[in-house]
Order: sequence, then C-alpha cells, then structure tokens
Amino acid sequence: MTKEYRSPNDKISPRSPRAATDSVIRHLLFLLLAFAPTLPAADNVSVLGSHPRWSVLENYQETITRDEFGQLINDVYCTHGFAPDLIEINEKTARILMNRETQKFFRLRFAEKDDGRKSVPRLWRPTKSLPPAKPEKPLLGLKIALDPGHLGGRWAKMEERWFQVGNRSPVQEGDLTLRVARLLAPRLRELGAKVFFVRNSNEPTTQKRPDDFRELARKILIKNGVPQPRADVLDPNDPEKEQTIRWQSEILFYRYSEIRRRAALVNFKLHPDLVLCLHFNAEGWGDPNNPTLTDANHLHLLVNGSYLAEELEFDDERFEMIRRILSRGYDEELPLADTIAVTMARETGLPPYQYPTTNTTTKVGTSGYVYARNLLATRLYRCPVVYCEPYVMNSNDAFARIQAGDYKGTRSVNGVERKSIFREYADSVLDGLVAYYSRARK
Ligand SMILES: [Zn+2]
Repeated sequence: MTKEYRSPNDKISPRSPRAATDSVIRHLLFLLLAFAPTLPAADNVSVLGSHPRWSVLENYQETITRDEFGQLINDVYCTHGFAPDLIEINEKTARILMNRETQKFFRLRFAEKDDGRKSVPRLWRPTKSLPPAKPEKPLLGLKIALDPGHLGGRWAKMEERWFQVGNRSPVQEGDLTLRVARLLAPRLRELGAKVFFVRNSNEPTTQKRPDDFRELARKILIKNGVPQPRADVLDPNDPEKEQTIRWQSEILFYRYSEIRRRAALVNFKLHPDLVLCLHFNAEGWGDPNNPTLTDANHLHLLVNGSYLAEELEFDDERFEMIRRILSRGYDEELPLADTIAVTMARETGLPPYQYPTTNTTTKVGTSGYVYARNLLATRLYRCPVVYCEPYVMNSNDAFARIQAGDYKGTRSVNGVERKSIFREYADSVLDGLVAYYSRARK
C-alpha cells in the first residue's frame, strides 16, 4: 500500500482507511522548525527532514538544457503548480528559491545545446554506461537493492498493515513483501546482478522507537489544535485515536524514521543502480478484525514526481526534487517501470489502477500502469526507483491466493490454475528487468 509513504501533505482518497489521518498529519511538516534547534532558524524543513545542501547542486551546472528542465518540471515533477517565486525558468538559467525568509536563491545554468551538456555526476550507473551483456546474464554487474515495504511481524498491527478474516492466517503486508524479495533475490543473482536487501527481517532499520518520539508527537498535536492530547489509544476503533500521543509517536517511528533510515542505508552504504520497492496494495478494509473483502483487484507502479504545491514549499523537498531532476533518474526509471508494468500486467492479468482523483498523482509513460507520485521512498533514494503496487490484498482473489501460501508449479485457486501469488509477483518483475536490460545491453 502506498498511502503510508505518502507525503504528509497528500490529499487522501475517500477509499483510504486512513482518511481521518489527514487533518493531523497534513500540518506536521510546518511544525518541525520549532522543535529542531540544530537547524538554522529560517529553514522550512519537513518531518525529520534534513537541512538541504544547495551547494551540492553546483556539480550539476550546465548538465541539462532549458528544454529538458522545463519539460521535466511541467510534465512530471510540478504538475500541480507552485508559488511563482519557487522556480523561475529564464533563458539561460533557472532561479530556485533556497529560503524565502532570507530571499536566497540558487542559480542553475543550463547547457546551451544537447551536445554541449556536461556529464552528470552520480553514484549509480545508467544502463547505457553498462557494458554489453551476454543473453544469459542480462543483469551482469547491475547493483539492485530490494526494499520490501513495511516491517510486518510484531509491528504489523501498529503499522495498520494487518487484517484477519475469522480464524484464517492474518494478512501482514510487511511479511508478504519480504517473501517476494526473498524469492526474487536468487533469481536476480543467477542473471548476474549484485543484490542487496534494504530490509531482510521483520525488525526496523531505525534504532528509534515510538517512545523516542513522544515529546515531538505531543508538540505536533498541540500545534494542531489538540491542547491536551491523550496519551493512549483506548480502543482500536476509536475515531479520535489519531489525536493521541501514542498513535502519533508510532507513525513517526514506523513511517518517517524508518524510511529515512532506509534511505541513509541506500544512499551512503549500498549505492545501488536501482531500488525496487515491493508492496501489495489494498482497498479500505474497515475493521481489521472483520475486514471488508472486495472484487476490486489491480496493478500500478510509481516513480517519483507529481509534487504538490504545499510540498514544494518545504526547502528540503524542493531541494530533493531539483537534485532528482538533475541526476536524471527519471530517464532510467520511467522506461524501466513501463517495461516491468507490461510484464506484470501480462502475467498477473490485473487491470491498471485508476486513482479516484488526480490530486496527488500524474499518469506517465506509455503502459497505462505507471504514475508519478511524491512518496518518501521514491524521493529519498538517490538512484532510479521503481515502486510496485500489484494485487489488492483484501480482494477475494488475492486473499485466497495469499491464504494458499507459496508453492511450486500451479494449483487450483478459486477454480483457476495459478502460480503462487509470491512467485507470480517475483517472476513478473524479473521478466520485466530481463526485457529491459536485454534490450538495452545487446
Ligand atoms: Zn505498502
């Protein structure tokens, strides 16, 4: 499910089981300033975000033409508009706001023409820079990091990625995604890839725990108009549970702190050429102990983009977007996502998901399955990121297949011969990677 990685400003679809979260979370980011004394006072930084280092962008001077920059801004990254002083595209330069209070700007110089572009500095390698590969090893030398979404295990209920039908096995998204990653890894290695796990257990990557965030949670709630926040959730179905210190400190732990920690691992230690974020989707299931099952089942993939105007107000998010644009990850992740989408669609038989609104996403590419969206993971990992969202876990079909577990070959599920849902997922992603890299590395 992607909503957990949603930027806090995101509009929530009416289907979201978390819809009530929005009012509290939306303003989280505006508050950090007051509680982060290590940051310069004037920085407007998102939750647990870091102070942007604008000087890094000097390395990208004259690496992009005005046309390329303008197209990426207009068609992919800033499709929902933004305040006019944030980014101003002129003839030879772009002026990007670093800090509104001090009226400081970063000036990006464009390359004058396509063949005058300086080379882009980056730690990941674009496919076209990889040596040709033999047909049986199309992934030779490629460094792939697998990021199985969520934590699962004993954290699954806290993450609200848990439901149980009667006395059947509980469905925990974090366990399902790890299972897929563990099936996928040896297959990728057979084809020559070097594979890393961003997570390979049910334990968090972050050293922090919810209790570490109680004070921040309390301050956030007070600032959001809950003058005397309750400490604890009394009843899991309490509609006001999101106004408790417990609920807020938990989300600061399992979402913000955990994903930022994973990003540090990817960016400073693993240095992969590609991150694959593996998720299962869901429709709102209501009471997790008596969940609603649905006939809806679908597939989509995400790449970074489609920033909201409010998100671009944050100095760190705006900086991270510009760095992403300049490192040209989109040139790699979009055709890759499109290729994986085609093999996943073919092998799963799932139709493309249509977001109920266009408030937060922008359809991109040619497959009909790929959207741009500003999620923490797609933004923070400094390399191409393809984020997979197949299967509605609480659909009748996927639920039966999850209950059937993993197995070799095919079995009859609801009267149809099917691979295990985990193998189908892993195979279909693998086939997309093989198709993309075989074509590109002939
Ligand atoms: Zn998920």
